[in-house]
Amino acid sequence: MPSLTDLHIDDTYPRDLPADPLDTNTPRQVRGAGHSHVAPTPVADPKVLAVSPEMLEVLGLDPSVATTPDFASLMGGNSLLPGMKPWADCYGGHQFGHWAGQLGDGRAITLAEVVTPEHGRQQLQLKGAGPTPYSRRGDGRAVLRSSIREFLCSEAMHHLGIPTTRALSLVHTGDEVLRDMFYDGHAAFEPGAIVCRVAPSFLRFGHFEIHAIRRDVDTLRTLTEHALARHYPHLGPLTPESVVAMFEEVSDRTALLIAHWQRVGFVHGVLNTDNMSIAGLTIDYGPYGWLEPFDPGWTPNTTDAEGRRYAFGNQPGIGWWNLSRLASALAPLLDDHTALQAALDRYPELYAGHHHRLQANKLGLAQLTGTPPTDATPATGDYALLGRLAELMGRTETDFTLLHWHLADVPTDATTLDATSDRALVDLLSPAFYLPTDLKDDLVKDWADWLRAFSRRSAVEDPVERAARMASANPRYVLRNYMSQLAIDASTKGDHDVLQELLAVVRNPYQATEAHEKWAARRPDWARHKAGCSMLSCSS
Ligand code: AMP
Ligand code: MG
Repeated sequence: MPSLTDLHIDDTYPRDLPADPLDTNTPRQVRGAGHSHVAPTPVADPKVLAVSPEMLEVLGLDPSVATTPDFASLMGGNSLLPGMKPWADCYGGHQFGHWAGQLGDGRAITLAEVVTPEHGRQQLQLKGAGPTPYSRRGDGRAVLRSSIREFLCSEAMHHLGIPTTRALSLVHTGDEVLRDMFYDGHAAFEPGAIVCRVAPSFLRFGHFEIHAIRRDVDTLRTLTEHALARHYPHLGPLTPESVVAMFEEVSDRTALLIAHWQRVGFVHGVLNTDNMSIAGLTIDYGPYGWLEPFDPGWTPNTTDAEGRRYAFGNQPGIGWWNLSRLASALAPLLDDHTALQAALDRYPELYAGHHHRLQANKLGLAQLTGTPPTDATPATGDYALLGRLAELMGRTETDFTLLHWHLADVPTDATTLDATSDRALVDLLSPAFYLPTDLKDDLVKDWADWLRAFSRRSAVEDPVERAARMASANPRYVLRNYMSQLAIDASTKGDHDVLQELLAVVRNPYQATEAHEKWAARRPDWARHKAGCSMLSCSS
C-alpha cells in the first residue's frame, strides 16, 4: 500500500535556480536567487479537517494515509519526509497597477516536487506554515476562514473544469492568529489553519518581473529556461523564438482561463501580477466571489470597492494588462521586440475566440453566428441575443447561475411556444429573480420577447447536443460566499459537517442532486450584507 514515504521527490525548481546563500529566516531583500530554503514552523496540535480524495489519488496515496498522525504532522508543518528540503519562492508583482517590489512566498512553503504515477510533477505547498524571508511584516500564518475558502474553491474550480491549483488537505493548527478582519483597528484572535496546495508549479508572472526589474538578466534567463522545460517542453530550449512562443501560449492559457471565469461568474478579486500563473491556473484564492445578481461592475473585494479594477467585467482586460507586464519582463531576453508585441496584440482575439465559444455553449449553441458589436456598429445575430440577455439581467437582480440553468427549460418547439403565455414563459426563470415584484408588465414582455427569440434560435440546433452543451457549461451549484461562510461558522465551533457537505456539493457541480438542492437556491436575504457573504477584505 503506497504511503507517504513512497512519494518520489525530485525538486527541479531549486535545482535549476540559484538559491539564496543565506539560510537565516529573517525578512530581507533576496537578490540573484529564485528561492530561499526555509522549514515550516511547527504548530501546536495539527488536526486534518478535510482532504481531497482525488488529490490523494493523483499523488498515488492510499486514502487511509490521510487518517495517520504522520499525515497530520506533515501537512501541519511539524515534520518532513526524508529527502525534503523545503523552500519559499522569490517573486515580485504589480499590485493594483503599481510595482510593489519584492513580495515572494511570505507564508507559503513548498515541501517538495513529487513525480506522480500519472499526473506528472506536482509541487506540494503549505500555505500558512510560518514566516519566511519574504514575510515582510506578516506572520506567515493563515486563518481558518480563508483556508476553508481556498480549500473548497480550489476543488470547486477543478470540478467545474477550470484550470486551478488544487488542495490536498486542510489542517487546523491549534494555534491562534491575530487579524484585523475589517481593517478598523479591532484585531482579534482567530483559529489558524494550513492548506496543502498542489500544482505543477506555482510560477507567477511576478517571478519574471522581479529579476527583469532588478536587471538581473542571468537569473531571468535561468528562470525562463526552467519555465520552458517545466511547462512548455515542446517549444525546445531558450531561443528568441521559444521565448515569444512561450509568451503566446501563456496568453492563450490566460485567455482561456478568464473566459472560463466569465462562463461561471467567478471573480478572482485580486488579479495582481503576483497572482497570475505562468501555467494558466487560477491561483491564490483570497477575497474571491461568484456573481449572484448579474452585475459586470461587481467585485467581492472591499479593498477594491472604490476603483473596481478587478470587477467581473474587467477581468478579461486585466488579463491583457497583466500579460503586458509579463511581456515587459521577458523583453530583456530579446534584441527585437516586434514579435513579442505582436503576440501581446493577439490577446483580444484569443480571448474573444474562447469567450464566444463558451458563451455559445451556455446558450446551447454550437457556435455564435452574426457579428459582435464594434465602436461603430451594433451587434447582430447571436451576439445581439447575448447583448440583450446581459441588458435584461441588469434590469432586475437576476441570479447569473440560476438564470442560465433554467434556460434549458425553455421549450423549443413552435407549437408549445405559441401556446405559452408571456407570464408562463418568464415563470420558467422565476427561481433566478431576487425581486419578483420588479417584474412589471413591460419587463415581463421584454423577457418573453427575448425567450421567444432564444427559443426560435435554439430550434435550429440538434436537441441532444444542445442539452449536452448547456449541461456542461452551466453549473447547478457554485460556491457562493454565504455557503463558505456557513461552513466557516460551523467549523469555528468545531462542527465540520457543513465543510464536508460543501466538498461533496462542489465535486459534482453540473448535476442536480436531491440531497444538494438546497445549495442551488438564490443567496438568502440574511446574507445580502453580512461580512464574508457579500464582500470580503484581503485580511487572511
Ligand atoms: P496575497 O494577497 O495572499 O496574494 O499575498 C500578497 C503577498 O503578501 C504575498 O507575498 C504573500 O506571501 C504576502 N502575505 C500575505 N499574507 C501574509 C502573512 N500573513 N504573512 C506573511 N506574508 C503574507
Ligand atoms: Mg498572492
